Amino acid sequence: MGRSRLKINAEAIKENVRKIYEFTGKKIIAVVKSNAYGVGIEFVVPLLEPLEEIDAFAVACVEEGIELRKIGVRKEILILGGVLKGEVKALKEFHLTPVVSDPEHLKVLEDENIPFHINVDTGMGRLGFLEDIPKDPRVKGLMTHLSSPADREFSMRQLRKFEGFLKKFIGNSRMSIHVESSAGLIYKVPFATHVRVGLAIYGEKPLKEYPVDIKPALSFEAQVISVKRLPKGHPVSYGRTFVAQRDIRTAVIAVGYADGLMKTLSNRGYLLFKNKKLPILGAVTMDMTVVQVDGVNIKVGDWVEIVNPKRTFVDLARDAGTIPYEVMCNLSPRVERVII
Ligand SMILES: *Cc1c(COP(=O)(O)O)cnc(C)c1O
Repeated sequence: MGRSRLKINAEAIKENVRKIYEFTGKKIIAVVKSNAYGVGIEFVVPLLEPLEEIDAFAVACVEEGIELRKIGVRKEILILGGVLKGEVKALKEFHLTPVVSDPEHLKVLEDENIPFHINVDTGMGRLGFLEDIPKDPRVKGLMTHLSSPADREFSMRQLRKFEGFLKKFIGNSRMSIHVESSAGLIYKVPFATHVRVGLAIYGEKPLKEYPVDIKPALSFEAQVISVKRLPKGHPVSYGRTFVAQRDIRTAVIAVGYADGLMKTLSNRGYLLFKNKKLPILGAVTMDMTVVQVDGVNIKVGDWVEIVNPKRTFVDLARDAGTIPYEVMCNLSPRVERVII
């Protein structure tokens, strides 16, 4: 019954997993951090869990791992953000696998029989060991993260570095090796056993030229609350940053920055109604956005689209001056999630 809703195309999501598997030939660690990129773990994860292409899930922190167990995940759950003091009990109780990136994480795991993966920093400059990678019988996997997948030269340098670590580290032991995120899939890393993918599963392309044939899976819609004629000279919204230069028709849409419509779209973005662009007038506000609807047959209660399969979160984010990741994970709980 929400006034704004996110439609999740279940078939498209499952198909995307298949396409990623076909393209890479590797099992997938599905990245579902931050509530599955805002899409909603309780909707996405039950779709993914039964798929044989999916070997494990990855989240940012222990709390997110617990949430996954509580909704019935039985596959492995990786905690990308390591393990901090006070989290060991939960790791054991919920069978979560931390990715160790710091000597302090090792200290926390001392004397604990908990398997873990290790992150190597080959150029990300965020998490990961630069050298002195711990050798430990509990290590079940080794990963690195590409900082700039669009930059072939730098990425190849990271891959060569990682391969060097692998040769020294694993010898002939069996371990899962994972490097590629959605954009990184283009490298088809030959020595990796898994890919670690988020965005592409949700049907959003991380690169303009993307060789994996994924399909958009999300639509973001909101209802019209009011339609009226504004006379020439009348301002619109806070700060009066738009003033009607002639008589215009406007519609107030039940979506604002509290739902996840970025305020940077004020006076420059547009929404869609039956393939027609409705320009955003004035400031996007917390709960409402005003659009121009001259010549459009639209009435109170109609659904307007912010995102649809032809105008994806990638497109919306570009208009808003940000990235789809940020827009998606800011979709608020007020936006109703609907599986179709
Ligand atoms: C978020 C994240 C991913 C997934 O990235 P996508 O671009 O969404 O596929 C992979 N690895 C790490 C370490 C991450 O933090």
